[in-house]
This record gives sequence, C-alpha cells and structure tokens, in this order.
Amino acid sequence: MENSKRVVTLVYGCQMSERDAETLTEITRQLGYSPSDDLETADLVIVNTCCVRESAENKILGKIGELKKLKERNKNVKIAITGCMVQQPGALERLQKRAPHVDIWAGTHNLHDFSALINRVEQGRKVAEVWQESKATLEVIPLAEKGKLHANVNIMYGCDNFCSYCIVPHVRGRERSRKPEEILQEIKSLVDSGCREITLLGQNVNSYGKEFSPAYDFADLLHQVDQIPFLLRIRFITSHPKDLSDKLIKTVAEGKNLCEHFHLPIQSGSNFILERMNRKYTREYYLSRVQEIREFIPNASITTDIIVGFPGESEEDFEQTLAMMKEAHYAQAFTFMYSKRSGTLAAKMEDQISLDVKKRRLQILMGVQNQESLEWRQHMIGEILEVLVEGPSKTNPERLTGRTRGNELVVFKGDFETIGSLVNVRIKEAGSWTLIGEVE
Ligand code: SAH
Ligand code: SF4
Repeated sequence: MENSKRVVTLVYGCQMSERDAETLTEITRQLGYSPSDDLETADLVIVNTCCVRESAENKILGKIGELKKLKERNKNVKIAITGCMVQQPGALERLQKRAPHVDIWAGTHNLHDFSALINRVEQGRKVAEVWQESKATLEVIPLAEKGKLHANVNIMYGCDNFCSYCIVPHVRGRERSRKPEEILQEIKSLVDSGCREITLLGQNVNSYGKEFSPAYDFADLLHQVDQIPFLLRIRFITSHPKDLSDKLIKTVAEGKNLCEHFHLPIQSGSNFILERMNRKYTREYYLSRVQEIREFIPNASITTDIIVGFPGESEEDFEQTLAMMKEAHYAQAFTFMYSKRSGTLAAKMEDQISLDVKKRRLQILMGVQNQESLEWRQHMIGEILEVLVEGPSKTNPERLTGRTRGNELVVFKGDFETIGSLVNVRIKEAGSWTLIGEVE
C-alpha cells in the first residue's frame, strides 16, 4: 500500500459523529485511500464536525484555519468538512465564505454519498452538498471498520425531543429506527471480524422502535443482541429519563452480557429549569427512575450530563442541581456551560446568564462531582471486578488497561496475552478517574 493515496480523518463531538467518521473513512478506503495520522503526507483530510456547543465550533474553525496553511504548503491536498456544523440551517454559505480553501462540504444527510463527492473533487472541482432531509434507504448500509475489539452501532438516527437548548434535532433530522434484523446482522458480522464489545447508539435509545408494528422495543432488541455468540459485552447510550421503562431495567438486570451502566442525563435538578428545557420529567420522577435502577441492579453505574447557566437559572435552581448530584450518586458527570445555539428556543429566551456566573457554577459543580466520583470508586477497593482487557496502558505501557462492566477505567498488572478477553481484577486503589488493580 506504499503508493496508495492517504486519508486523515479528524473527528469532533459525540459517538455518532465518530461512527459517521468511520463510515467516511471506509468509503475512502474503498476508493483506494489508506488511513493515516500524518497531515503532511495526506492526499485527503476529512474533518467530521460537531455544533452542539460554541466551544466545539471554535475549535473546529481553528482547525480549518490550520488546514489553510497545510494547503499552502501542499496545494494537492483535498479538504473535506462534513457533518453537523455544515448541516446547520444557513451555515454553509457563511462557512464557504470563511474557508474558500475547502474542497468538499457535506451535511449529515448525504454522508453515504461521499464517494460521488470525492470523484467530482478528484476531477478538479469543488463541491458543496447539504440535503434538507435524509433518504432512509441510504442509511441501511453502514460501513464499519472491521477487526476492532469495540464498535459503535447505530440503532436509530435523529431526535424528536426538541429540548429547548439543543441543536441536534435541527441537524440530525427526525427520529428513525433501524430494523432489528439489520442491526443484528451488522453486529454478527462485526463479531466475526473480532469485535467483542459493542455500544448501541441513539439520541434516545429508550424510544427505539416506537413506530414498529407489531410492537418491538429497545428491551426486545437488547435481549436479542444478548444472544449473539462470542459477543462479550453490550453497552448503550443515551437513555432519556422520560422513556426509561421498568421492562428495560429488568432486561438489563436479567441479561447475560448487558452492562449495568445507564447514561441518564439529568441536565438540571430544578423543576423550573427542566420545564424550560422541555425535558418532560421532574426531579422527583428522575429520582424514582434512579431508585428503580438501584433496586433491581444494586451495583449499577449511573452517569449523567448537566448544563449550568441555562437562561433564567437562579442560585436556588443551581443549588438544586448540586443537591441532585449528592442524591443520585453518579459514577461520573459530563458538565457543560449552557451555550446559545441559534435556531433553538432557548436562544431567544430572556435572562441569559453571564459567562462569569456560568464559569463559577461549573467550577463548583465539578468540585462536587469529583468528590462523588472518588467516593464511588473508593467503594470498589477490595472488590473483584470483571474487566475486558483493551491493551497496554497509555500512561504506563508495562501495565494493562480495560473497563469494568460499569465502564470504569482500570489500570492493572496482568498478562498481555489476555488482551481481548475478560479477566477478574482485584481493585487496590481508586482515583477520581481510574481504578488500579491486579489480576486475581
Ligand atoms: N441525546 C442526548 C444528548 C446529546 S447532546 C440526551 O438527550 O441526553 C450531549 C449533551 O450535550 C447533552 O446531554 C447536554 O448536556 C449537552 N448540550 C446539548 N446542547 C447544549 C447546549 N446548547 N449548551 C450546553 N450543553 C449542551
Ligand atoms: Fe438534544 Fe434533547 Fe434530543 Fe438529547 S433528547 S439530542 S438533548 S433534543
């Protein structure tokens, strides 16, 4: 493959963005490009973008600026900017003006058509294509990178929830579920190529299949995926609290390889703010869901997302979020400052919160969560936990690293021949981010 063309793919954002970037890389592989990390020798650079917060957009705009310099050094390199940022209503024209050095612009709905765009660019043209809607039929042929231990599998696309702060429904379109047979087929072929752990992806996996007749829901899908031979672990994200059913909790409790981890974003602990966010649950309902999980699965790990500084958030509202963190005992929380996204309802709300206040609240929140995460991990000291061995630790190559069923990262002394299999590790120490242990 020495003489083949090279593609470098850069990804920003969530696992769906990562999954899309994989599809793009696979499309280019079929066109004769081999994946590489080296920008200087690249023939094609793909940047798959995110627009969920302004900070992500700023980072990406910085990267697009750097790529202009790359193009000045190597005028043959082609640059493709794809995904959510390009899909935002009205964004394409603004971006094109700002970055005339880009060769391909593509939104989220036409990624599967990427080979046609590359062909046109290879003939010396520039292309920009953003479809207003997805063509569902094109989405049934996802191309996955084979041979990896872990893979992400889309089970649905889009989102119908329209949380008032969120741009996702505007750039990913309406919610649509893939057929169970197709999902099962994709997972089986991944397993045949060596994959042992999968994460099922959806913006709200708990509403999977709501349009199916006869009825077939996410719990049914999990149960079937759990029967696939040689698959060791099944994860899923994201669970919207409003649709988290008792049936799902019981399915995970009774499952074989279904990991006892729920990513259950609360966003705020205040009912007033939850209502303004259009989340469709109260803190009381949310806590009842947490209790239900803990009742059926006492050792379940629960993680969350929280936004501080949503328009109208008072000190009291914020205090309620802090109180919530202490009640829910999260293993981990992803915390964000509210970021105004044009086209969303919240962007038009009055009483936007100042950056100073947002920063202060974020600091306080992170302090509380670090303490909670540490306590959560300290509870595990002395326990023997099942770990899927991923490879050498990045910080200490003589040690191995892997994850528990609860998705906690463990660094441990062990045998390198166990990479790719499950081992039992006794936990010796705990930090806010990692566990340290030894194979039993
Ligand atoms: N579908 C998932 C979340 C997708 S976006 C869910 O409903 O939980 C991932 C996270 O980004 C959200 O949970 C939220 O915490 C955060 N987020 C989304 N829009 C945001 C905004 N405008 N400002 C700050 N954080 C935001
Ligand atoms: Fe955004 Fe809400 Fe949909 Fe999640 S459920 S993607 S936060 S609109």
